[in-house]
Amino acid sequence: MILHTKLLLIILDGVPWRNWRRLFGNLEGWVQSGEAQVWKMRAVLPSTSACCYASIHTGVTPQVHGILSNEVRFRVAQPDVFSEVTKAGGKTGAVTHSYWSEFFNRHPFDLVNDIEYDEPGGPITHGRFHTMTGYGHDNQMTPSDVDLFATLTMLCQRHGIDYGILHTCTLDSMGHRFGHDNTPMDHACAVADAMLAAFLPKWRAAGYEVMVTADHGQTDRGHHGGREDLQQDFALYYFGEGKGPKEDTLLDQLQLAPTILKRLGVPVPNTMKAKPFLA
Ligand SMILES: [Zn+2]
Repeated sequence: MILHTKLLLIILDGVPWRNWRRLFGNLEGWVQSGEAQVWKMRAVLPSTSACCYASIHTGVTPQVHGILSNEVRFRVAQPDVFSEVTKAGGKTGAVTHSYWSEFFNRHPFDLVNDIEYDEPGGPITHGRFHTMTGYGHDNQMTPSDVDLFATLTMLCQRHGIDYGILHTCTLDSMGHRFGHDNTPMDHACAVADAMLAAFLPKWRAAGYEVMVTADHGQTDRGHHGGREDLQQDFALYYFGEGKGPKEDTLLDQLQLAPTILKRLGVPVPNTMKAKPFLA
């Protein structure tokens, strides 16, 4: 089956709405010049990373998929973006934290066998993962974002993936360490924006629609998990031909999975009840 389009989902972990709009000058430049559209999106509750990852890809709440903290993890039961794209005959790629492999392929994560795999049967056709084992306040154990962007680009070029996701914890880790209103974070956001900017036009030229977003926000004290605009709200930038809602529309994170499937031309499973935000 030929899908309608190809799409890359870029998730920068833990960036609040305010920091997207004031510090990501390249993304904002593309909004200003008309190449991209941006909306505010609100994370599920709890606005905790693992819970958000599972909701981003299944389109159901944590209360339904059951990933209720970073510590309680298993292979989720609901259909997700990987499973549905593969079922439709598309090839998927993941360059992410290992939790994504656990939720959508197999749990627990086997350090040697799962760090990298190519499995034509899917659901994740080409997976490249990192675990951040030993992560803490002083030693952040985060790969460079440029390495992750390059790996995703390699999967596009070498394997012709139809759908790819990249997820990086760099800014979430910086936020837990420094908070979100300080000089190191200003600089870290600018660096992430610049690294992304070097790759984004190449992905567009290769025929991919691109979404850039976060899993949740984060406060000035570096916290998230609860119910608060700073903890829950972030930007979603969209590069593509789909028609979106008015710019002041608040999007729901549960809309992301069915929207991606709709853009790809993949049937949306009936577990994903939220309305796609792109036509
Ligand atoms: Zn997170």
